[in-house]
Amino acid sequence: MINKIEHLGIAVHNIEEANQMYEKLLGVASYKQELVEEQGVLTSFFKVGKSKIELLASTEDDSPISKFIAKRGEGIHHIAFEVEDIKKELKRLQSEGFQLIDKVPKKGADNKLIAFVHPKSTNGTLIELCQEISGNIAKST
Ligand code: ZN
Repeated sequence: MINKIEHLGIAVHNIEEANQMYEKLLGVASYKQELVEEQGVLTSFFKVGKSKIELLASTEDDSPISKFIAKRGEGIHHIAFEVEDIKKELKRLQSEGFQLIDKVPKKGADNKLIAFVHPKSTNGTLIELCQEISGNIAKST
């Protein structure tokens, strides 16, 4: 089951400048910055009611974010849906014929298990599924 839009991921050139702009725009400061080394990305999170904005800046020239910006410029990079059981949703989407980038969930920023669905199978939008890592994760792993 998909619960809600958990966050929007936005690709930016410079995380410091984007942080300042979003702080002005939203009237709140970033509550967390996190480096996800395996993906060569620096993230910064803002709360917007029950959803979040995730800024993504590249730390390496050949990371997925730098490739995205080179190709499409700064802007919305992905939509993240919060799901109750990420493994179950991945199975369901695969059986529906979606092209999964991650067939097995991986550890993402902000204490989440995440998996991406390829934009080729979703009319051009990269989709992230995420599930909060918590006490009841044991049930689904
Ligand atoms: Zn995300």
